[in-house]
Amino acid sequence: MQILVINCGSSSIKYRLFRMPEEFVILKGLIEHIGEKGSKIKDHYCGLKIIFKKINGVDAIGHRVVHGAEKFKQPVLINNSVIKGIRACCRIAPLHNPANLAGILACKKLLPDIKQVAVFDTAFHQTLPEYAYIYGLPYEYYRRWGIRKYGFHGTSHEYIAYEAARILKKPLTKLKIITCHLGNGCSITAINRGKSIDTSMGFTPLEGLVMGTRCGDIDPAVVTYIMQKKKLDISQIDDILNKESGLKGISGLSNDMRILERSLDKRAKLAIEIFIYRIKKYIGAYTAVMGGVDAVVFTAGIGENQKGIRQRICWGLFTHLKNKPKILVIPTNEELMIARQTYNLIK
Ligand code: ADP
Repeated sequence: MQILVINCGSSSIKYRLFRMPEEFVILKGLIEHIGEKGSKIKDHYCGLKIIFKKINGVDAIGHRVVHGAEKFKQPVLINNSVIKGIRACCRIAPLHNPANLAGILACKKLLPDIKQVAVFDTAFHQTLPEYAYIYGLPYEYYRRWGIRKYGFHGTSHEYIAYEAARILKKPLTKLKIITCHLGNGCSITAINRGKSIDTSMGFTPLEGLVMGTRCGDIDPAVVTYIMQKKKLDISQIDDILNKESGLKGISGLSNDMRILERSLDKRAKLAIEIFIYRIKKYIGAYTAVMGGVDAVVFTAGIGENQKGIRQRICWGLFTHLKNKPKILVIPTNEELMIARQTYNLIK
């Protein structure tokens, strides 16, 4: 069976064609500059038309969808009611879900008879207990507008937890795992017996760790204070917190951890120290709430490739534990996870 995995961003489409269940990659690629000035590809429909011309037959399509809110707790076969649900989530994920939806609608138009599956970044974290996902805000905001912690990178966390169990030759249901996805976006998850019980990203991907350009946890009062001082509107403060902060904002040099590691600059060193310290705190907290940890798993650009950062994160972290966790590095593969989930749903 041939399964095409599609990840639509606002101006790009990443795709990978798998032969399943062999998990063999037949073809992969990236279409960029969609809808940008001067580009020949005016929308996702045109981009997907180009992709389908390169493909010789497809049995099903798996889409990455960023936000599924509380409606989608697992991958689903796409029908009109699912499309309505994904559209409803655009309100709380205005940067991501509209592009995901555009991809789904274009595929429906181009290949109306092919089954499509939506795999949600938030779904894996739908097992969080209420006390972990409700914020200390008026409860009414949760009921009216769905303001709560959702968590993201779920497909990646689930994939590496599953792989970790396979490597450790133990059932996932018997393990306490902390997964650290450290790329440009960074998040960390506590996985108790196969279920996500807490995660660092929140209502949006802004919460939690210090990231490439996102600030992560800060005192919320800082937001209104900066807005007042700099006379900023909502989109300006949003840009500062999402695009000008994190490693980039602290170092004033770059959001790229490789550049910071090579630099001798004081603020570059400080940015790395803050990055590491925040991760240590989360690992400590998640070890405490799970009552121990069997494995800590690192993935994504920094997690997979920057040994020095991994060593500094783990340094002295588990000296108090009788049973030391295994430290694993597992390359993430969200596309494969989406292909697996699509295959399992339609086979
Ligand atoms: P994204 O979240 O955009 O998918 P990545 O997982 O590619 O990001 O991670 C990007 C981060 O990983 C950057 O800070 C980069 O410096 C760091 N990094 C370290 N080594 C590599 C590598 N070999 N390839 C890509 N990124 C790397």
